Amino acid sequence: MNPHPFPNNTGWIEVITGCMFSGKTEELIRRLKRARIAKLKVRIFKPALDNRYSDEEIVSHDLHSIPSQTVESPGEILENSADAEVIGIDEAQFFDESIVEVCNKLADEGKRVIVAGLDQDYRGEPFEPMPKLLAIAEYITKTLAICTVCGNPADRTQRKIADHSRVLVGAADLYEARCRKCHYIPEDE
Ligand code: ZN
Repeated sequence: MNPHPFPNNTGWIEVITGCMFSGKTEELIRRLKRARIAKLKVRIFKPALDNRYSDEEIVSHDLHSIPSQTVESPGEILENSADAEVIGIDEAQFFDESIVEVCNKLADEGKRVIVAGLDQDYRGEPFEPMPKLLAIAEYITKTLAICTVCGNPADRTQRKIADHSRVLVGAADLYEARCRKCHYIPEDE
C-alpha cells in the first residue's frame, strides 16, 4: 500500500485522511490488526465525542471493530501509551491542537503512530488539527469515497441538513460522500 519502506530503530507518524465513508477507519483497523499479528504492543484511542457505535471499540461504518480506549484529551493518550509500540488514534479531527505535540512526542520516543481523521469539514474547509498532522507525518494516505450523485471519486462530506455547527456527530443519517462538483454547503430555507 505504501510506496516507501518503514524505517528501523525510530518512531514515525502515519496519517490516514479523507471524507466520511472513504474507509479511513477500516484502513486504520487493518494496519492495527497486522501490527497485532506481528506481536507488537498496540494501543488504540478515540475521542469521547465519537460514541456513534460503541464506547469500547473502534467500529468502521461496515462494522469491522477492534477494542479501543475512549479519552477526553490528547494528554490521556500519552499517559496510557508508555508500554505501547504501535498507537492508533481514530477521529483525530475531534481532538484539540495538542494532539499534534502528543503524536510528535510518541514518535520521538520510537513509537509508530497511526492517525485517522477527516481532512475537511462539511463546508470543504480544512479541519484542524488535521492540516498540522499532515504536515508532520512521514506517511500520508488519502482515501476517497464514491460520490452518491455521479459515481466519481469523492473527497467531500455532504451534510444533508442545514445545521451550521462544525461538529455534528452522525453517520449515513446526516452525511454522504460527494465529489467536488456535486458537493454544496446546505443553506437555511
Ligand atoms: Zn459527483
